Amino acid sequence: MKLTILGCHSATPRWDANPTAQLLEVKGHMFLIDCAEGTQVQLRKYKVKFARIKHIFISHLHGDHFFGLVGLISTFRLLGREADLHVYGPKGIKEAITLQLKLGKSWTNYNLVFHELDSDEPQLLFDDDKVSVTTIPLNHRVYTNGFLFQEKPNERTLDIDAVKAANVSMSYYSKIKQGHDVINEDDVLIDNKTITTDPPKPKSYAYCSDTAYFPEIVPQITGSTALYHESTFLAQHQDLAVKTKHSTTKEAALIAKSASVDLLILGHYSGRYPSTQAFKKEAETIFEPVALAEDGKVFEL
Ligand SMILES: [Zn+2]
Repeated sequence: MKLTILGCHSATPRWDANPTAQLLEVKGHMFLIDCAEGTQVQLRKYKVKFARIKHIFISHLHGDHFFGLVGLISTFRLLGREADLHVYGPKGIKEAITLQLKLGKSWTNYNLVFHELDSDEPQLLFDDDKVSVTTIPLNHRVYTNGFLFQEKPNERTLDIDAVKAANVSMSYYSKIKQGHDVINEDDVLIDNKTITTDPPKPKSYAYCSDTAYFPEIVPQITGSTALYHESTFLAQHQDLAVKTKHSTTKEAALIAKSASVDLLILGHYSGRYPSTQAFKKEAETIFEPVALAEDGKVFEL
């Protein structure tokens, strides 16, 4: 999994900071997560091939998470896109986008497929043989979902020397990788575990923005390879976090700790703070390791 942070600040674009958008590459897919104003500029800056984006996941309809969507959709049209584009987001997103296209008489010449969401339960949005994407219902001022990206279990790894020594026909190799015991050339049953090793653990990425402190999500995200959790405020502004239904550094860290994730990535910083270093320090008093999202930063998960 490769995660590129395209923008990770809250509220408004600034000359040196972009609001929320991320790109997750996993098993050949390129998933765009949120699409704030300026996202297409960031995609160009980091040399992402637009045509490879086929699925866009929008957490909620606050501008700093989706005001770049209509622009990107429009650019896709100007570039002559033909492939379908799937957009997953809260109920109302279709109306918000299509009204702008309609008034500008700029309908897309490709299929724009909206998947509107209104459930408060986790919903499976995408599923193939390699990866699945499920909503993580969050608690914000408007209807909001995070997203959980999960790799499917990998095949077992052949121990080639052991397979050869066991005198097993090559025609069984794919069955062996699927975990089956097989009969060798001497009609002896070979135990799968003696000729394979465990596959690498499937990776998962939990994206949680925007939300108040919401421990209800913990069971769903437990054991994730990485958790992106918003931390709009430092702990000293707990009152503002409650009022605006955002989280503090310490709350994000408590979620990461309860969910025993491998890595916590913080972002969605309020513009009131001169530096983001204090975010990391505060979170580390509760959980480690912590990384700070930065525009353009790449995480190999
Ligand atoms: Zn918001």
